[in-house]
Amino acid sequence: MKDENCIFCKIANGEIPSKTIYEDDDFRVILDLGPATKGHALILPKEHSANLFELPEETAGRAMKLAKKLGEQMVTNLKADGLNIVQNNGETAGQTVKHFHLHLIPRYKDDGQNILWKPGEVSADELELIKEQIKG
Ligand code: AMP
Ligand code: ZN
Repeated sequence: MKDENCIFCKIANGEIPSKTIYEDDDFRVILDLGPATKGHALILPKEHSANLFELPEETAGRAMKLAKKLGEQMVTNLKADGLNIVQNNGETAGQTVKHFHLHLIPRYKDDGQNILWKPGEVSADELELIKEQIKG
């Protein structure tokens, strides 16, 4: 299903042009217009899902397989030193476009980016509590 108001639906389905590095029946992979690094790409399913939670399991699995294939291609052909896979869900987590996408961000030594977090602290008791909370 497509969402009339969704820019990534229009890009994924070819209604808006993009720099496409891969396409099949279910996915289009495009270069990000605000790249973190050289080669920053977005894996877009052609079907609309707002986020990971709405995404069919099958599509989630295929998206990760594509990330592996294209990530390897980027590292080899762009001579990248590493790769970050980033996937944001919800505004608080940094999601700005509400159509599921996987970021592929090739990393280069001294590229000036920092896609890491500041490690916090937690006690053994808190870890135990959180473990139980997550399991529900
Ligand atoms: P997120 O913050 O995870 O929702 O990521 C959205 C990404 O989409 C950002 O990295 C933007 O630079 C990128 N973006 C937004 N509009 C376009 C567009 N028309 N073509 C390519 N990339 C886009
Ligand atoms: Zn969409």
